[in-house]
Amino acid sequence: MATTGSGGGVPLLGCVADDFTGATDLANTLVKNGMTTVQLLGVPDAATAVPEADAVVVALKSRTIAVADAVAQSVAALDWLRAAGAGQFFFKYCSTFDSTEKGNIGPVAEALMARLGTRFTIACPAFPENGRTLYKGHLFVGDLLLSDSSMRHHPLTPMTDANLVRFLGRQTQGKVGLVPFPIVEAGAKAVKCTFRMLEDEGTRIAIVDAVTDRDLAAIGEACAGMALVTGGSGVALGLPENFRRRGLLTGDRVADALPAVTGPEAVISGSCSPATLAQVARFAEDGPVFPVDPLALAEGRDLVGEALDWARGRLGQGPLLVSASAPAATVAEVQKRLGVMAAGELVERALAGIARGLVAAGVRRLVVAGGETAGAVVGALGIRGLRIGREIAPGVPCTVSLGETPMALALKSGNFGDADFFTKAFRTMP
Ligand code: ADP
Repeated sequence: MATTGSGGGVPLLGCVADDFTGATDLANTLVKNGMTTVQLLGVPDAATAVPEADAVVVALKSRTIAVADAVAQSVAALDWLRAAGAGQFFFKYCSTFDSTEKGNIGPVAEALMARLGTRFTIACPAFPENGRTLYKGHLFVGDLLLSDSSMRHHPLTPMTDANLVRFLGRQTQGKVGLVPFPIVEAGAKAVKCTFRMLEDEGTRIAIVDAVTDRDLAAIGEACAGMALVTGGSGVALGLPENFRRRGLLTGDRVADALPAVTGPEAVISGSCSPATLAQVARFAEDGPVFPVDPLALAEGRDLVGEALDWARGRLGQGPLLVSASAPAATVAEVQKRLGVMAAGELVERALAGIARGLVAAGVRRLVVAGGETAGAVVGALGIRGLRIGREIAPGVPCTVSLGETPMALALKSGNFGDADFFTKAFRTMP
């Protein structure tokens, strides 16, 4: 089991993330860089115990909700993290800066700053490993400007302006500035000096250029002691080193160690992404699969009961798969007949019910494919927190749930992982 550097359940870093898989991505980055990390689901209440971890990430679903709600939830999460004793705070959003001209990134950042009584922070969504780079204040996705990428057509947050100084400026009351690339290239000291200069000139939030992980490390170092840092998970990569330098993280620790969890294994799949379809097909070559057909659900068939009857005799004889995953043409047909939202909710509710039944029947090791599906399953299981462990595939770590009956979980959003992800997940789990 990992030791915690901060001791006594006092986190060094308190994070607020604007969505669930984004929170996991951040937690994964922190663990890979040596911080034990726990992810809490939703705003914790006064009764929530402070977990033993170097970093605590509160996962919200605040990316596209009304500005006032996003602000209220984010501030409540911050208050809880402050009361828990965290000394530095991080506001995590998407590396494609998913937001609109009204928010929620700017208003949430400013509300958190006001709450902390701080006059300056940065905004850096760069994530070079995933092709998100920032140059002259402009965000690139691969070789394209953000505004020329597919994000231009996002249904909820269409990104039509790649100039983040201008775009964030529309969301904020305070002035937005820029730390340009030559300064970042010159290293942490130059960046820190520029932070001070910009703050003195009245800038409240500085977009910071970053093209490589080396840049992110320099930015991270320059953010030592900054009350609030905002960005994608990339910029968090440089923060653990600050704590290490202060002797708060020791070198002999295993940040990704998780308690062993034994018990029957199952996979629930509700993602229809090409990567997940390949994973389902690979598993079906020699593993048992129960298909969940949305049209049968709509006709009132009790597929939850049927799936659980099917599973009962098979549990404990190797992993089994319950899958609603279907190719695009089939999904389109179902959506035409039932409606997009109704079909999605019907399937999510059934899969969540099956997950609850499987756990009641003894399943303790569970893989879930699909972001929304994972949210529905975790909600149905009443899970409030996850300790983050080793990475299974880029961006997808093993986790173990907090609470009286720990479960090993791998929660994978759509397009992540190779074809052998499901078996690899069980191999990697504690
Ligand atoms: P991803 O991470 O790939 O986007 P999600 O779980 O977030 O996966 O979203 C997939 C959505 O598709 C869910 O709402 C799920 O209930 C729905 N769905 C799953 N299977 C089907 C199907 N066969 N027909 C229609 N909708 C489906």
